[in-house]
Amino acid sequence: MTDFVVVGGGVGGLVAARRLVLAGRSVTLLEASERLGGTVTSHTVGGIVLDAGAESFATRGGTVVALAKSLGLGDDVVEPLAEGAWLQPAEGAAFRLPENSLLGIPSWPLASDVIAAIGFRSAFRAYVESLIPAPYGAKSVTLGELVRRRMGSDVVDRLVNPIVRGVHSVDADELELDAAAPGLRKALLRVGYLAGAVADLRQTSARAGSAVAGIRGGVHRLVDNLGSDLSRFGVDVRLGVSAASVEADSVTTADGERIDGTVIVAAPGLLGGGTAPGRRVVLATLVVDEPRLDAAPRGTGVLVADGAPGIRARALTHATAKWRWLAEAAEGKHVLRLSYDADAADDVDLAEIARADASALLGVPLDPSSTVDFARVAWYRPGRERYTPNGMLVVGETIAGTGIASIVAQSEALAGSLVDDSNG
Ligand SMILES: Cc1cc2nc3c(=O)[nH]c(=O)nc-3n(C[C@H](O)[C@H](O)[C@H](O)COP(=O)(O)OP(=O)(O)OC[C@H]3O[C@@H](n4cnc5c(N)ncnc54)[C@H](O)[C@@H]3O)c2cc1C
Repeated sequence: MTDFVVVGGGVGGLVAARRLVLAGRSVTLLEASERLGGTVTSHTVGGIVLDAGAESFATRGGTVVALAKSLGLGDDVVEPLAEGAWLQPAEGAAFRLPENSLLGIPSWPLASDVIAAIGFRSAFRAYVESLIPAPYGAKSVTLGELVRRRMGSDVVDRLVNPIVRGVHSVDADELELDAAAPGLRKALLRVGYLAGAVADLRQTSARAGSAVAGIRGGVHRLVDNLGSDLSRFGVDVRLGVSAASVEADSVTTADGERIDGTVIVAAPGLLGGGTAPGRRVVLATLVVDEPRLDAAPRGTGVLVADGAPGIRARALTHATAKWRWLAEAAEGKHVLRLSYDADAADDVDLAEIARADASALLGVPLDPSSTVDFARVAWYRPGRERYTPNGMLVVGETIAGTGIASIVAQSEALAGSLVDDSNG
């Protein structure tokens, strides 16, 4: 009998297991695959070790930075280079994303970069909400609903949606407001209008430094070090063991073994409790040798609006223009990460498609001979649980939403409450 059985060794499960073992509890962790880390992992492309999934994390709340410090990675937390990202709209040329914005919501709708992006009429429509400060829209459930009500559809469709799809692979109308932009609802209630709420939140995060950060050498180092800590602290980590069914106080593995203990589910999709449909995402990584990219023609990358003609990618990250450590490791070559919805990446020569998309998005024709290496990684992300069966403890993306920052915070909080409760 173990005190806790954690099912799933992604970042959610690893953080929970570490918190529990550090509080003196016995922990068994079951991981279906042969490695820890889940969606946070690495691969080697063109001789460079790169993140094959998540490559950065939100700094809000300071939770991930605190975790990195406790894992001995404090000196390796790095901010991205300040080049900014671009947007490829459905029609017309790419433009630099408005500087003072949050998930595409402008803090000053009449700024010249907002007008350049959506036109004066739509920018003025967005500005008007500041003339009528009121909590109107604050009860909105989704991010899209709130922004549409306050600032109009053009801000949602042309600025917010391309960004939200790039990060979360869903539309702003499908994304819960509090998960997408923690603190925005409260700021709106306090300030009275959305642009002001965005300015308020931006000011807070500016005081705290960049909104996102990475780890020198790659974010996968977080899960590598979490895994090492679990071994060091005596967690019984079982790789290649899949949970077939879970109860609140026991797990039955696919091999029929029953393991008793308080169960924490950290495996998205395992409970299947009224989930939204899952989605497949494909990440294409190109390492290219093309000196014309040294000037970072589209800053740190390009988000792609739905319907951009001839482009299948959802987003492109110019990773060597985003991370100094990576530019140094690449020794003059460039690393481009393009994300695709699976249906756009199935049954095609993805290396060729990615090269064509990168050429169009970066405005620099990439000759086939410039490609040093290419890698394709397919991910399946189960839908978010709408509810969890009574009494089940759940951590990770299933319940915290997409992103390392939300997951680490939720997992730490839940595991902490369990040991605090039983201590009291
Ligand atoms: C391409 C891509 C890029 C991303 N980029 C970023 C980014 O830059 N920044 C960011 O913050 N987030 C990013 N994300 C999202 C982030 O990686 C995830 O939200 C997070 O890693 C999910 O962690 P998790 O522990 O909840 O789940 P997972 O990482 O999915 O881990 C769950 C684990 O459970 C295991 N498992 C499943 N079923 C069972 C079972 N029955 N029994 C035992 N084990 C089981 C799985 O094998 C897996 O190891 C990205 C995601 C993708 C796909």
